[in-house]
Amino acid sequence: MGAYRDFHRRSIDERAAFWREQAQLIDWREPFAEVLDYSRPPFARWFNGGTTNLCHNAIDRHLATRAGQKALSFISTETGQNRTYTFRDLHAEVNRFAAALGEQGVARGDRVLIYMPMIPEAVFAMLACARIGAVHSVVFGGFASASLASRIDDAQPKVMVTADAGMRGGRAILYKALVDEALRLAQYPPATVVIVNRGIDKDLKTVASRDLDYDSLRDRHMEAKVPITWVESNEPSYILYTSGTTGRPKGVQRDTGGYAVALASSMKHIYCGVPGETMFTTSDIGWVVGHSYIVYGPLIHGMTSVMYEGLPVRPDAGIWWKIVEEHQVNVMFSSPTAARVLKKQDPSYLSKYDLSSLRHLFLAGEPLDEPTHRWMAEAIGKPVIDHYWQTESGWPILSAVHGIERTPIRYGSPSFPVYGYDLKLLRESDGAETAPNEKGVVAIVPPLPPGCMTTVWRDDERFVKTYFSSFRDKLVYSTFDWGIRDQDGYHYILGRTDDVINVAGHRLGTREIEEAVQAHANIAEVAVVGIAHAIKGQIPLAFAVVKDAEKIATSEARDRHELEIMETVDKQLGPIGRPARVHFVAMLPKTRSGKLLRRSIQALAEGRDPGDLTTIEDPGALEQIRLSLQQVRNDS
Ligand code: AMP
Repeated sequence: MGAYRDFHRRSIDERAAFWREQAQLIDWREPFAEVLDYSRPPFARWFNGGTTNLCHNAIDRHLATRAGQKALSFISTETGQNRTYTFRDLHAEVNRFAAALGEQGVARGDRVLIYMPMIPEAVFAMLACARIGAVHSVVFGGFASASLASRIDDAQPKVMVTADAGMRGGRAILYKALVDEALRLAQYPPATVVIVNRGIDKDLKTVASRDLDYDSLRDRHMEAKVPITWVESNEPSYILYTSGTTGRPKGVQRDTGGYAVALASSMKHIYCGVPGETMFTTSDIGWVVGHSYIVYGPLIHGMTSVMYEGLPVRPDAGIWWKIVEEHQVNVMFSSPTAARVLKKQDPSYLSKYDLSSLRHLFLAGEPLDEPTHRWMAEAIGKPVIDHYWQTESGWPILSAVHGIERTPIRYGSPSFPVYGYDLKLLRESDGAETAPNEKGVVAIVPPLPPGCMTTVWRDDERFVKTYFSSFRDKLVYSTFDWGIRDQDGYHYILGRTDDVINVAGHRLGTREIEEAVQAHANIAEVAVVGIAHAIKGQIPLAFAVVKDAEKIATSEARDRHELEIMETVDKQLGPIGRPARVHFVAMLPKTRSGKLLRRSIQALAEGRDPGDLTTIEDPGALEQIRLSLQQVRNDS
């Protein structure tokens, strides 16, 4: 590991010189005065004083050399629609969208909330915001009205962009109807909603004073040329909400210059993409992976990005490999859950298509188990690179960095700390560094490198309190993940240290799900835990105490109640948070000071020992959980 070790060491020991070099990978309008201003730890201001623009770097700067090259290839197996945009086309579309937003009064620093299915207009909207210096906040389409409303109130957007509907597995999801409901719930609804009408919702209802049809707006701005708004490197580019321990999601705020540099650098060194080549990332624009590696990363690097609306197994399990063959994909990025889904399918789909263009497959978003890692690598005959990161980091924290050195891959390991990250594994008790093979909290000594979150939207205090306060007398960033490093320096992620769960790569707070369950009128108390699941990694289980036990007196009534609660979660939070089962119990296990013993519940549900129970108030509560789990096992 000589070459990479040196590269990494230099990124820490000669931080300014290292990042000054990486900063050459993007265009600056005005050069930065200093590489890093770290006068107010832990707040890092990268490339201070420089001016740049994400949209310019993603599109305009490529026009001289690659205007006719494909920038975006859109494939929908849901609607059967395929569309291709060259950099020239993308430039025109983004200018139209930017003009439409400008006409609605959106200016530098204003927020635009984007709640969209996986269609090109979502990408145009994001890039249009970047072009005019507006701050986008994309909310994943799987979130329901109440979640959407809380994000609207936090971001207070001037305009919202949505579509009439999305499609999933052949079923329409009525986005606009969800937006209407969210706007009824929100305290600070935007004055304008721009709707991309795909013609899916035949009963689309609009509010005359508020809703605008995007096609009509676009028609008026066909020839628009909207100048780039050059922003200072530290001006926010976007807010992306993510879950934590509390029920209130955090607005992860990203800067502009640092993010552009981190992405450009990662495209070269980590993903080993070559300008002119094609990248296919199977995530959604509502997640950080979509922001970084469907939209900004590949485009900044002059690559074609493939955008896919559909499932990995529809019309059959060969669809992604068919896309790889047809679009000559060179770099692919997907999730461990997708790999586990594909592993269950007929293996012949993998040999049916020519994968010779593909150099490597990257997987991230949740733990990748060793057997799946091995299977995937053998099945496609290419390196499969597990890499670890978070919404907060914006780009990889742990990865093999094959652009610098082809270090061997170890199955089940996301390899090494990425350059720029001064990563430590710390003992939870005293913050001391752990020995090889000793479990510790994955922590990063600040300053965080370029690309990472700069603060929590409008809440600097929450940023410091949430992320930098895990260890007394030590200002370090906690990832809230457990990790371990072997004697050769390979890292392994062992799961979260907090109450965050990861369902099929979707990060959810158990508190968030609990609050959604509590919206049901008959719930007195509830505990939600994540338990291991063979395909999805984890699934949520709820243990609920009802107010009126009469309502669950018979088994039919229980089943009905369980379904009602699931539907309440669908409506409040979204189907991604729906508990797989709801167990009804008379009380929940708590400590004498009233703290829920979630870990013990989780252990029982996973068939493990519940651990130290000396602080439990009433051991009978755990016995109830055990019996309820037993009952469900017997029934199924
Ligand atoms: P998100 O912010 O939604 O991307 O979720 C980030 C969390 O997903 C991390 O804190 C980890 O718990 C988990 N995660 C992401 N990538 C990996 C990986 N390669 N291996 C293990 N866990 C991962």
